[in-house]
Amino acid sequence: MNGKVVMDCIDAAYASIRQHADEIMVLDQSIGDGDHVFNLIRGLEALRAIRTDIEALDLGPALKLAASKVLSTVGGSSGPLFSSLLLGMSRACDHLNGDASGYAQMYAAGVQAVQVRGRTGKGSKTMMDVLIPVAERLSELADKEHAVPLILAELPKQAARGMLATREMLATKGRASFLGERSLGHIDPGARSSEIMITAVCERIGRCHQ
Ligand code: ADP
Ligand code: MG
Repeated sequence: MNGKVVMDCIDAAYASIRQHADEIMVLDQSIGDGDHVFNLIRGLEALRAIRTDIEALDLGPALKLAASKVLSTVGGSSGPLFSSLLLGMSRACDHLNGDASGYAQMYAAGVQAVQVRGRTGKGSKTMMDVLIPVAERLSELADKEHAVPLILAELPKQAARGMLATREMLATKGRASFLGERSLGHIDPGARSSEIMITAVCERIGRCHQ
């Protein structure tokens, strides 16, 4: 993987977020302030605007550059959190040895960085309810040395389970926590957008492994 693949993944995430923009907007209007999808689009467009710089770099520096761009362009809670994901992954690139377990460690380090930044784990009705179960499933499948196409097909299913589970959760972090019991019955917008982006990235990487 290199900056070119990072940019391909950003393009895939962008296309899918645009496609689901109205749905994500409504989710954040229900339990937040409605801006989540616009924050994401702003960040992804800023990354696409520095395509040549990202594509010229190796994986670690490309992720680091993307992290700093997201931090400087995206507001809301989600900007610093997604920036931490990219920065955490960039710092763990040394573990890569070409097999799935290295990528599993890299992704887990990114998720760990988000967890530190947002000071929450699973169960508080946030993007963590997608990011953490996907990191756990990825390490589990990589440890068992499953084939890459199988792993890439499994992760979106895990992401969807995590996203759907947020519907029955009480929000205890972020803007939705102000609603208390009224947050019940709604899917968390950050969980849905994370699921959408993870699915898009898995499909994109899967095409390289066909
Ligand atoms: P804001 O809530 O500031 O308007 P966004 O609308 O961009 O920011 O993002 C909202 C999403 O951010 C939520 O749906 C939730 O998934 C996620 N989120 C909020 N706070 C946290 C946190 N502390 N840790 C992880 N994710 C969080
Ligand atoms: Mg919002």
